[in-house]
Amino acid sequence: MSNLLFDTLFGPLAGQSRDLIHLADGRRISAADFFDLTSRLAGALVTLGVEPGDRVAVQVAKSPEALALYGATVAVGAVFLPLNTAYTPTEVDYFLGNATPRVFVADPAKAEALKPIAEQNRAQLVTMGADGAGGLMDKAKDQSGQFTPVARTGRDLAAILYTSGTTGRSKGAMLSHENLLSNAQVLADLWRFTDQDVLLHALPIFHTHGLFVASNVSLLTGGQMIFLPGFDLEQVIAALPKATTMMGVPTFYTRLLDDPRLTRDLVGHFRLFISGSAPLLAETHIAFEERTGLRILERYGMTETNMNTSNPYDGERRAGTVGRPLPGVELRIMAEGREVGQNEVGVIEVRGPNVFQGYWQMPEKTREELRDDGWFITGDLATRDADGYVTIVGRAKDLIITGGFNVYPKEVEEVLDTFPGILESAVVGLPHPDFGEGVFAVLARQKGCEIDLTAVKAAVAENLAKYKHPKSYVVVDALPRNTMGKVQKAELRKTFGDTFTQG
Ligand code: AMP
Repeated sequence: MSNLLFDTLFGPLAGQSRDLIHLADGRRISAADFFDLTSRLAGALVTLGVEPGDRVAVQVAKSPEALALYGATVAVGAVFLPLNTAYTPTEVDYFLGNATPRVFVADPAKAEALKPIAEQNRAQLVTMGADGAGGLMDKAKDQSGQFTPVARTGRDLAAILYTSGTTGRSKGAMLSHENLLSNAQVLADLWRFTDQDVLLHALPIFHTHGLFVASNVSLLTGGQMIFLPGFDLEQVIAALPKATTMMGVPTFYTRLLDDPRLTRDLVGHFRLFISGSAPLLAETHIAFEERTGLRILERYGMTETNMNTSNPYDGERRAGTVGRPLPGVELRIMAEGREVGQNEVGVIEVRGPNVFQGYWQMPEKTREELRDDGWFITGDLATRDADGYVTIVGRAKDLIITGGFNVYPKEVEEVLDTFPGILESAVVGLPHPDFGEGVFAVLARQKGCEIDLTAVKAAVAENLAKYKHPKSYVVVDALPRNTMGKVQKAELRKTFGDTFTQG
């Protein structure tokens, strides 16, 4: 009897004396010790009454222990449910109510506030701190370190990850052992990960990027990870010389580019920089190559599907695109019930072993987005060129319809972004009394620069049809982003919502 995900990712670590995890303070954890930790935590979960199929909700700081808890949950046949550490107790209440976990692992500092919520939702509360210590590790220490993983097949659930839910309530994406493993295998192969790789891991582990793409690929290929609590520029710069690969969100790259210490000398030895979770501006891609001689590899994925497309390892890594579908992943771009032609915009749909099992306890939402024949409607608008490269132009929900015309925000943003003094821009549709929606542009200025709006408007007029022109502009110091570096357009719509309707 085997446990597909555990046996492949964690099982091989047993007894290996090699380093697995490096921490910022210089501590190292061997593969064998990490495996032992995982087994002890699995034993501790069993003593808490966790049974196969139960959910284990986890809202804790990133640590090797927290990663081991993922392995432990999979080992006992339960479903790992990581929660963003920024969620408030009210938000946590929703997740516990929706997912009904048997156990909820929380930060000791928040335990007092979360206790009544855990009780209300009949979840047993245990604690784990940033250093891994707490009630759960105390229980784990009492365990023998011998644990036989519960049998699980590819179809069994390994995790539920809640979508970020910028519109409406978050939905729990159910991910099976096969979903996770198949994607890790494809990515490891495509991106040529080996046991020689040292991955700089500065992403959170409550999200698909840091938890699955980064950790699963590294565990699968026997490499090492430099495990940082988050993106701290000083720590990252100090770690770069010791790493061979990094997976990051675009803000990692813009922040590195802002620092003169990012040079060819610092990263010349690097094998691969990967970006995803939010669009990497073509300029960032180009600036990074100019500075370091290395081309960032951009890929595209989402909570529900793991990764879908990637730029090639050997071929051309095309700036501004997310590359081609991964081996085994089918991708089509649809509008009005049919596939669009080359360079036409439509909604991306994907199908393959990577695509999730549906939304937890939300059969209607599942039916809306996951077709009976396996195609998942991603809600991302994109085009595909003659060479098969996919370019994402925005989320369908961000499409602006003004006076009956469709405006794709990215098209306007691209014109704005190239303008001197503009670091980046976000274009949104706001309620407008005449046009239904009016195009509105938020411009983030480059440090110390003024933006000449008259000249911006002239450039827009030269490049874009009139209906696409922003009817109003605002200049800000920075765009609002979430932890994964995604621009929060919903927040901008909220802040500036009455621009065209007031008075
Ligand atoms: P999440 O489920 O939080 O991982 O968010 C998934 C969404 O992030 C996708 O549906 C896309 O809208 C966006 N996304 C992910 N990777 C990229 C990328 N490389 N370029 C543009 N958007 C991306």
